[in-house]
Amino acid sequence: MLTGQEYIESLKKLKPIIYYEGKKIESVVGHPLIQPHINSAAATYDVAFDPAFEDLGTAVSHLTGEKINRFTYIHQTPEDLVKKVKMLRMIGQRTGSCFQRCVGFDALNAVYSTTYDMDQKLGTSYHSRFVEYLKGVEKRDTMITGAMTDPKGDRGLKPSKQADPDMYVHYVSKNEEGIIVRGAKAHMTGMANSHEMLIMPTTALKEEDADYAVCCVIPVDAPGVLHIFGRQTNDGRKYNEIDQGNFKFGVVGGETLTILEDVFVPWDKVFMCGEYEFAGTLVERFASFHRQNYGACKIGLTDIIIGACALIADYNGTAKANHIKDKIVEMIHLSETMYCCSLACSGEGRKLASGACYVDPLLANVVKQNITRYIYEICRISHDIAGGIIATLPSEVDLKHPELGKYVQKYMMGVASVPVENRFKILRLIENMTGGTALVESMHGAGSPQAQRVMLARQANLEHKKELAKKLVDISD
Ligand code: SF4
Ligand code: FE
Repeated sequence: MLTGQEYIESLKKLKPIIYYEGKKIESVVGHPLIQPHINSAAATYDVAFDPAFEDLGTAVSHLTGEKINRFTYIHQTPEDLVKKVKMLRMIGQRTGSCFQRCVGFDALNAVYSTTYDMDQKLGTSYHSRFVEYLKGVEKRDTMITGAMTDPKGDRGLKPSKQADPDMYVHYVSKNEEGIIVRGAKAHMTGMANSHEMLIMPTTALKEEDADYAVCCVIPVDAPGVLHIFGRQTNDGRKYNEIDQGNFKFGVVGGETLTILEDVFVPWDKVFMCGEYEFAGTLVERFASFHRQNYGACKIGLTDIIIGACALIADYNGTAKANHIKDKIVEMIHLSETMYCCSLACSGEGRKLASGACYVDPLLANVVKQNITRYIYEICRISHDIAGGIIATLPSEVDLKHPELGKYVQKYMMGVASVPVENRFKILRLIENMTGGTALVESMHGAGSPQAQRVMLARQANLEHKKELAKKLVDISD
């Protein structure tokens, strides 16, 4: 297993081509826009060495019997799924941000069971190939980007019917050595500071779209790979400390648009190539695993938001007001409700044919659907408690300015015993954790709300519910 520092050192050996605002980033390590995300991902490595959390941060590989970082582990039991949830909440509490590595973790788990099912039905040999790859991941402690979302072009058209055939990642040719892949992946959380990406299809596919059924691993710096780092709300502030809110770990995960311009992938890194009938299974499993997480990592974050709101009430002198106390209770209720759902979909997990354990997909989709609402409500309440000052606060530069500083210090004071700088820090933390990019991530990360509603309709067994109603009142037809 790597420590956080060893992980950071390992990134220095990679040479990804990555641009931000038209300029090439020479090294992601030390770059002010990317370093916070690196620090956050490093927490997923450090957790494995924390004696207090060893049981959560590590696991015993079912393949080798070795102790491994849990982020490279294939869940074997519902208890493993519960440990994942507890681990993600704990890391969220430490980082206050997205630590990115769960996407690759979920991709590994989804590909593991899907390749097994594929081989059983089609007689292919993808699973044993994947197991060999996985052993290397466990050993090297690889940081992997789960690369699912395609740009998708015209959402009303299937991949092969798009005006531009590259709107979804597809293979353009194959030979004895491997395949050539073309297209792009969008919203790629953690890509800038990962070692590899695990490409998956983005949607269920039909036979005419078989070329889009591609699952494979590509190093982030493979020839033909180009990354464009996205803008975030307030990213111009990344050069100031307090104004960032969470200067150590940033806001959300740091996303890229990653372009694959005829990238060669050797066969030992290809786990699906044309088997369109399994694309839907892979997408559904990945999405359910990833939706499980949101009542875990985000609850680590809401723990911090609630704490910050209680603190700002202290600093503002409003902590004793009954309506403030009640609003904090409301936030706690919403937060723990989301956590309950993550625990529930984990506890109700079941073994698949491969022997690996899968969350209850219906409940996992409920988790994420709740996140798209309750996080917004928690953030709304946080703005209510903190006050309009989170939108109008002078900058850190003015706070520390040789002439203006005394006015900012004088008039931005709340409770007299609290240093003004502390009030600034908490206000900025609330502002940054509850607005802009952070909120949108809760809406669309792990799939937009409608994607969950499709799954809820599919998984809920409405016919069974009709039968229950009929039986109760003696209707038979
Ligand atoms: Fe992990 Fe949460 Fe970030 Fe998704 S949003 S990668 S689940 S920390
Ligand atoms: Fe996410």
